[in-house]
Amino acid sequence: AKLDGRNMFRFFEAEMGARMEARRQLELDLRRALALRQFELVYQPQLNLQSGQLVGCEALIRWRHPQRGVVSPLEFIPLAEEIGLIAPIGEWVLRTACMEAVSWPGDFSIAVNLSPAQFKSKKLVDTVKSALAASGLAAHRLELEITEGVLLHENRDNLAILHALRDLGLRISMDDFGTGYSSLSYLRSFPFDKIKIDRSFVSGGMTTKDSMAIVRAIASLGSSFGMTTVAEGVETPEQMQDIRAEGCTDVQGYLISRPVAAAEIVKLFAGQRLP
Ligand code: C2E
Ligand code: CA
Ligand code: CA
Ligand code: CA
Repeated sequence: AKLDGRNMFRFFEAEMGARMEARRQLELDLRRALALRQFELVYQPQLNLQSGQLVGCEALIRWRHPQRGVVSPLEFIPLAEEIGLIAPIGEWVLRTACMEAVSWPGDFSIAVNLSPAQFKSKKLVDTVKSALAASGLAAHRLELEITEGVLLHENRDNLAILHALRDLGLRISMDDFGTGYSSLSYLRSFPFDKIKIDRSFVSGGMTTKDSMAIVRAIASLGSSFGMTTVAEGVETPEQMQDIRAEGCTDVQGYLISRPVAAAEIVKLFAGQRLP
């Protein structure tokens, strides 16, 4: 039977109601997730192409939801930003990553993602300082990954915060490079230590020739600014070969390893310490 106008409307209304209810429930669950210890960090290693050695890793948050299983950060980080939960969640990530990394063997770096919304809190610099002090992690081992959005909004304030962070002795990476606006001028306005070339140029849908031209341009730019360039999302040996030929310094992706639990990253790091 065909739906007439009124039934159609009721159908959409019910559908929308169900969706809003699911979102409301997820929001309630998210508000309790920290207290219930439902978050955990997984770590994805980064490999230096010149030495062939692992140099560090990126911390990535996971939410183990009691009913829904593992919820992707792509789903709950934007929600956390919207409902004002990103500051406490971000602080948990920072403290946990520093605390875990300090017990790893070697001098591996640990990268933590910062959401643009974390810059709204004037406490950010203090929070980072406190996470370093509480864990005893050497500042040079901590790396903060930011996206262009951070410099886009309230440019002057955020620039000052970035400089204050860098003055602590840690490093700043530009994440997802090449996906936003006016990327090139950002490299001039702030001295990043590292550029992470977005996965879409590495294992994305673009034709290899076009995306490799972009990778080459970014790698050469990075090298002339004295920055490390990491290619994200390297999945095949062919991609790694191309990336190496274009002059990137480091790679990260499923080919090296998927993000793994803390116990696993310790094994990967311990396994490659020089005798
Ligand atoms: P991102 O910072 O660009 O992180 C890289 C994402 O690519 C991760 O997804 C990682 O698992 C995935 N990835 C790595 N290698 C490969 C590969 O070879 N192939 C493919 N297809 N994917 C690969 P994940 O963990 O789902 O995180 C998604 C996004 O969520 C992150 O993108 C980041 O923007 C955000 N995120 C994750 N953890 C945090 C966090 O602690 N704080 C904040 N603010 N955002 C986070
Ligand atoms: Ca990142
Ligand atoms: Ca990225
Ligand atoms: Ca991203």
